[in-house]
Amino acid sequence: MAERPYIVGNWKMNGTRAMLSEARAIDRAAQRYMKVEVAVAPPYTLIHAVHKEAEQIGVGAQDCHPGAEGAHTGDINASMIADAGAKFVILGHSERRQDHGESNELINAKIESALDAGLRVILCCGETLETRDAGKAEEFVLAQLKAALPMFQDPAERLTIAYEPIWAIGTGRTATADDIAAMHGAIRGLLDETYGTEASAQVRILYGGSVKPDNAREILATPEVGGALVGGASLSAESFLGIVVGASEAEEV
Ligand code: PEP
Repeated sequence: MAERPYIVGNWKMNGTRAMLSEARAIDRAAQRYMKVEVAVAPPYTLIHAVHKEAEQIGVGAQDCHPGAEGAHTGDINASMIADAGAKFVILGHSERRQDHGESNELINAKIESALDAGLRVILCCGETLETRDAGKAEEFVLAQLKAALPMFQDPAERLTIAYEPIWAIGTGRTATADDIAAMHGAIRGLLDETYGTEASAQVRILYGGSVKPDNAREILATPEVGGALVGGASLSAESFLGIVVGASEAEEV
């Protein structure tokens, strides 16, 4: 596994300033688990405030517009989130693909603009239950990635992939360890082909989909799982830190 396991909380459309106490609690506790890299992606409105609180954890955004500044009412671009204190951005999340009709091509443009702004990128991919039941999960996910992966030379420090089967997000269902290992292995194969094995080995592949304190350790000990993207369980410091502890224990196995 490349580097430390990476545990990222995606707060989605949750959180007002009252959530800053959770961010503070996560940050202070994360200082006891230095074997784990911890980060949160709050809504845009809290990025700067969480960045001000954070001594240890990384702070990122959940999306960005691909363009430079201009006449795009309601949009926020990569340099604006970097200016607010974000160090990374989650792109291609299935909720963006579904709610906003985001295509792989648009996601690729967002990735390139985020990299240009000096951000790290977490690129999400994942199949529906229908696609999995039809036996096409791997083909679908690899096609998503092929169309969206950035074509720059050294992805090592800038790119993370998050495999998130859509049917496991927010449902309480998780993929089996065998299914996760198979999909992550296939993604690794694509990264090897695209960037070469040495650079590919630096790219962590996170799993996302109903990761909780009680399943984190098993999931994080699965081959090729370099961390977790966590939705619901990242909204309280207690449950999110339970996952960080699971990651720390999985590292010791
Ligand atoms: C997510 O949406 O990225 C996610 C993994 O959500 P949850 O943990 O709630 O399934």
